[in-house]
Amino acid sequence: MKLAVVEGDGIGKEVIPEAVKVLDALSLPIEKVPVEIGYGKWKKTGYAITDEDIETLKNCDCILFGAVTTPPDPEYKSVLLTIRKELDMYANIRPVKPLAGITGVTGKSDFNYVIVRENTEGLYSGIEEIHDDVAYTTRVVSRKGSKRIAEYACKLAKMRNNNVTIVHKSNVMKSDKLFLDVCQQTAESGDVNYSDTLVDAMAYYLITYPEKYDVVVTTNLFGDILSDMSAAHIGSMGLMPSANIGEEHAFFEPVHGSAPDIAGEKIANPVAAILSIKMLLQWYGYNNEASLVERSVNYTLNKGIKTPDLGGEYTTEELGQAVIDSI
Ligand code: ATP
Ligand code: MG
Repeated sequence: MKLAVVEGDGIGKEVIPEAVKVLDALSLPIEKVPVEIGYGKWKKTGYAITDEDIETLKNCDCILFGAVTTPPDPEYKSVLLTIRKELDMYANIRPVKPLAGITGVTGKSDFNYVIVRENTEGLYSGIEEIHDDVAYTTRVVSRKGSKRIAEYACKLAKMRNNNVTIVHKSNVMKSDKLFLDVCQQTAESGDVNYSDTLVDAMAYYLITYPEKYDVVVTTNLFGDILSDMSAAHIGSMGLMPSANIGEEHAFFEPVHGSAPDIAGEKIANPVAAILSIKMLLQWYGYNNEASLVERSVNYTLNKGIKTPDLGGEYTTEELGQAVIDSI
């Protein structure tokens, strides 16, 4: 497997090296290709990402990505959007699962669900018309786009508890009727248990009864909101990993950004980056190794080895090293 490693900016440069060390500790046949992308590169060269970088990423099987700071340039095109588009990564995956010894602001500890968000269309289609007194954003829902995300959600459900919740607002938006129909048909033909819920009610249910959910599938904007909201169950920005999946490529990154406020202080929590490695291993089929990484993270946190965001006093490297020791 060929893995592109993009540390990016800010704390990306601190947490990604820890994740890479964890990967190295597993001694798997993985070739790493470092790629420089982001604000640092933009300051040096005027480009945050080049065509050559995109080619390099395309030539790898998957990407481990830290975070990039957005350059203060009105003409600037989002690096993440460019990569997502070029590599056609249509599914954004966020597992929401408790970690040992840590409680989020909701105080819940019984939850284990995954949000599967369509990542290429919906209200983030980029099709907009702006006039002085009115502005339009086109919400695109295609059968093809809905089908592939529904199939992904069902495939994932098969590996879990075989239960999909389709989240939509089809009572108000006809475009979501298509999304709902396609998801229902896909679940039906795949023999997956399913139900559907309106997005507004779902925001309440996910906070109040998170234990009821297994795989949650939804469109772009709704998924964006429900994913960030779900962080309330987790406990710190530094704990949540994510994946962007396409037909041919996959991209793994911590949910947090480059956090310039704490960059350089060696206190960033590396767990989100390390759990991104867990998702990468799972995606590739290294299931035993994935589970080993997850258990080692839990074992370490449970021993009280925590960075300041979790009330601890350990550094980024110390937490990373403790995970490696436990592996
Ligand atoms: P960006 O513009 O790159 O998104 P940001 O300032 O929005 O950067 P985020 O990473 O989105 O920063 O996170 C918001 C805040 O949460 C940070 O300012 C930081 O204090 C905290 N935070 C984020 N990630 C971590 C982490 N891994 N460990 C500790 N604290 C974190
Ligand atoms: Mg941010």
